[in-house]
Amino acid sequence: MISSEDMVRAALKAASGAGADVPIGAVVFAPDGTVLAEACNARETLGDPTAHAEVLALRTAASRFGDGWRLDGCTLAVTLEPCTMCAGALVLARVSRLVFGAWEPKTGAVSSLWDVVRDRRLNHRPEVQGGVLEQECADLLERFFRTQR
Ligand SMILES: [Zn+2]
Repeated sequence: MISSEDMVRAALKAASGAGADVPIGAVVFAPDGTVLAEACNARETLGDPTAHAEVLALRTAASRFGDGWRLDGCTLAVTLEPCTMCAGALVLARVSRLVFGAWEPKTGAVSSLWDVVRDRRLNHRPEVQGGVLEQECADLLERFFRTQR
C-alpha cells in the first residue's frame, strides 16, 4: 500500500506544474492506491477563482472513478491544508481520506481556522492526516513567494 509520504510526494510533483500560479498540488488515489487524477493550482492560468488544485483533481477523479460523482474509498493528497471551498468539495465528493502537507494558518479549513471536514453536523467526515512532509511543502511555497518579491 502506498504511504502517506508517497502520496504527498506525488502532490509535490503535481505542484511543480503550476507555472505562474502558487505551487499547490493535489492527487486523488483510488482505493487500490493507483492515481486517478493529479492537478496543480491554476487560478491564474485559467482565470478561474475556483481552480484550486483540489477542485480540479476531484473533478477529473470523479469522471474516471465509479459510475457517478462519489469518491468512496479514495484519498485526496494535497501539499497545503485545504481552504473552505476545497474542504467543502472533498466532503461533497465523499472522499474517505485526506492527507496534506503544510498547515495554512491564514485560510486553512481543516483545523487552522475552521474544521469543515470533521464538523459533527455533517454526515460525512473523512479521515485526516495533516503535516505530512510539512517542511518540504512549506519550503516549496516559501521559495515561490521569495521570487515574487
Ligand atoms: Zn482551495
